[in-house]
Amino acid sequence: MNQKTKGLLGMILSFTLLLTGCSAPPVNTDSSKDKLNIVATTTMLADLTAVIGGERVTVNGLMGPGIDPHLYQASAGDVSLMQKADVVVYNGLHLEGKMGEIFENLSSQGPAVICIEKGLDESMLLAWENDNSIHDPHIWFDVSLWKDAAKTVAKGLAESDPTGKADYEANLDAYLKELDETDAYIRSRAAELPESQRVLVTAHDAFQYFGKAYGFEVRGLQGISTDAEAGTADVSDLANFIVERQIKAIFVESSVPPKTIEALQAAVKAKGFDVSIGGELYSDSLGDAESEADTYVLTVKANIDTIVDALK
Ligand SMILES: [Zn+2]
Repeated sequence: MNQKTKGLLGMILSFTLLLTGCSAPPVNTDSSKDKLNIVATTTMLADLTAVIGGERVTVNGLMGPGIDPHLYQASAGDVSLMQKADVVVYNGLHLEGKMGEIFENLSSQGPAVICIEKGLDESMLLAWENDNSIHDPHIWFDVSLWKDAAKTVAKGLAESDPTGKADYEANLDAYLKELDETDAYIRSRAAELPESQRVLVTAHDAFQYFGKAYGFEVRGLQGISTDAEAGTADVSDLANFIVERQIKAIFVESSVPPKTIEALQAAVKAKGFDVSIGGELYSDSLGDAESEADTYVLTVKANIDTIVDALK
């Protein structure tokens, strides 16, 4: 660049500065820049944060529909997205089992962090298998615990964006009512089954909170995390249980490959009993846009419909 061009550029720059001064309208008209930029880990949390944040936030979900959070490894792009965010929302209780270190480092790097685990009453939490020192992370299947999660999100957003506090509280109030209606719907559908038929067998142990809240006995083929494979002894034990209890249907899960449940069905058949696959439950992820179960409320309603219709 020659001196003459530099001089000309300088003049243009000074002139522009004069023109734009402090009373000028902002050059950037992109309204998303004014919104709170949020990154949420799971599809359930992305949905919850979008509901509570409403117009004041943009939400990026890291995990898409059908993704298993127990096994999810954050990419370099995910980490960068979280570092640049205003707020990061995650479940905790080791749900995002491969991301613990990332969350620990995040808090010192800038974004505010909302951890759902921190807002839960410990006495309401179930043990992780037989280990009382850690807890089952699948809290969203008890709607009353998801109400606590909603409160935690509203409080956290108001701390990051105090001018939006009234909006977040209004969104929360409306959502708590919707969750109460959802809870009542699940209870009324569950009541269609006699108690002895309320037995839920699924691919992994995601439904213990559901079972406790709505009166189902729950068995998962894999443990609380999908991290460990089910052994042949697990398959055989569960097959015996299904035959003894004459259970009509077992269920695949949207975030777990169906082969384990199909193997269980085959093991039951080898013992001379037919159990059907009652459908697919949304376990650790919401449905996709075409599923008509792409929100938390639609998902838990779809689950209870699938369960009750198959076990009736
Ligand atoms: Zn799970």
